[in-house]
Amino acid sequence: MRLIAANWKMHKTVKETEEYIREFLKFVEHPESREILLCPPFTSLYVAGKLLEGSGVKLGAQNCYYEKQGAFTGEVSLPMLKEVGCEYVIIGHSERRYLFGENDELINKKLIACLEEGIRPILCVGEKLEDRETGMTFKVVETQVRLALSGLEEHTDGVDIAYEPVWAIGTGIPAMPEDAVSVHGFIKQLLNDINPKNKGKTRVLYGGSVKPENAGEYMKHSEIDGLLVGGASLNPETFAKIVYSF
Ligand code: PEP
Repeated sequence: MRLIAANWKMHKTVKETEEYIREFLKFVEHPESREILLCPPFTSLYVAGKLLEGSGVKLGAQNCYYEKQGAFTGEVSLPMLKEVGCEYVIIGHSERRYLFGENDELINKKLIACLEEGIRPILCVGEKLEDRETGMTFKVVETQVRLALSGLEEHTDGVDIAYEPVWAIGTGIPAMPEDAVSVHGFIKQLLNDINPKNKGKTRVLYGGSVKPENAGEYMKHSEIDGLLVGGASLNPETFAKIVYSF
């Protein structure tokens, strides 16, 4: 099933989360026809989980730590996320990689922990502008995917991937659908090389300046299994338009 995910980033207090979800649920119909996922900040997860109960809309976190508990000040573990109702967690978002210094090794540990805990990770990969301009897009994406999945070759079907070119995130400059399609095709081929049993079980989402006006253009293509939406997910009506754009 196709997956449309909202990454709220560091937006919305608990009160704003309540207002958003009450409004958003008015637009939700046939939640069984597509997977709809909200990823609010940590402080809003508990209340979001309560409000989403029975709605068919799923809950995810934007990050996690790989240890279950311990002296890791400021971190949040997977058992904590599971208890408040998270079924997904975004891992290796470019803001985590480039603003907070997350490297492929840490991302790999987080993915291993997610699979052990039974929370489905959405692994974010994507090239920077200079990579694209120097023809390195496929190489960069391949390296990120291979390192993130190292040791998980038999379990790739437990992971979804979001292809998010860094130059398209929050810039208002989306990738051309044909360009996204070619990278998605490449990632799918790579997944089959890594694990011939994967057979399409890993969804590959597109992310980067998606809005209601362009969402349908991506979703026309069978290579694109869903969308990860940042800025345009912050308004419930706008996000609902994206969810129902196909
Ligand atoms: C994101 O944060 O994952 C994202 C794709 O952001 P935006 O939609 O704002 O480009």
